[in-house]
Amino acid sequence: MLRVTEIFRSIQGESTHAGRPCTFVRLTGCPMRCVWCDSEYTFTGGEHYSIDSIMAQVDAFGCKLVEVTGGEPLAQKEAFNLIERLCDDGYEVLIETGNYVSTEGLDPRATVILDIKCPASGEESRNEWSNLNRLRSDKDEVKFVVADKNDWFYAKRLINEKGLEARTKAILISPVWGQVDLQELADLIAGSGMNVRMQLQLHKYIWGPEARGV
Ligand code: SF4
Repeated sequence: MLRVTEIFRSIQGESTHAGRPCTFVRLTGCPMRCVWCDSEYTFTGGEHYSIDSIMAQVDAFGCKLVEVTGGEPLAQKEAFNLIERLCDDGYEVLIETGNYVSTEGLDPRATVILDIKCPASGEESRNEWSNLNRLRSDKDEVKFVVADKNDWFYAKRLINEKGLEARTKAILISPVWGQVDLQELADLIAGSGMNVRMQLQLHKYIWGPEARGV
């Protein structure tokens, strides 16, 4: 059984898959407490569903793209089995994970979007650095959620030190909603000459920052 906060169909709001129709399976619970977290409602509650029941709900939405997210989806061991089942059933699977839990043992058919925690999150010290060694350059993406200029400089240093441009399909720089001067960040990114993408959270522009299930 897995504890699930919500299953819904929307468009993908982030990553290089932004804009595509997507079914989201949002699992309950997270061991982290990022200060700017926009999904605190996932920390508690949720309904217990079997993998068969989750699959039936996902099938009913009819999208070929499925994202397993949270909370921290990989904090529930059975999530690894759900991901395998989704891949077996022919879904294109994205995993949005906060880089606290090891990605070892994840079905290799799934795409990992690794959310590396920057200093302003308050959780930088809990990054699981071994996950970087499992990134695949033709498939996986890393995301840095930046709350201020210092976070951007942190991301820049890490990208260079760890050679992330060569080890990922894309590097996403995602400003915390409502906290960052977007033009200033755009200037910094443009001036860096790095192979990164500034990413805005499309769903929040469409439905508003507080909307759930979209
Ligand atoms: S890892 Fe994600 S869900 Fe968990 S506290 Fe941080 S932003 Fe929120």
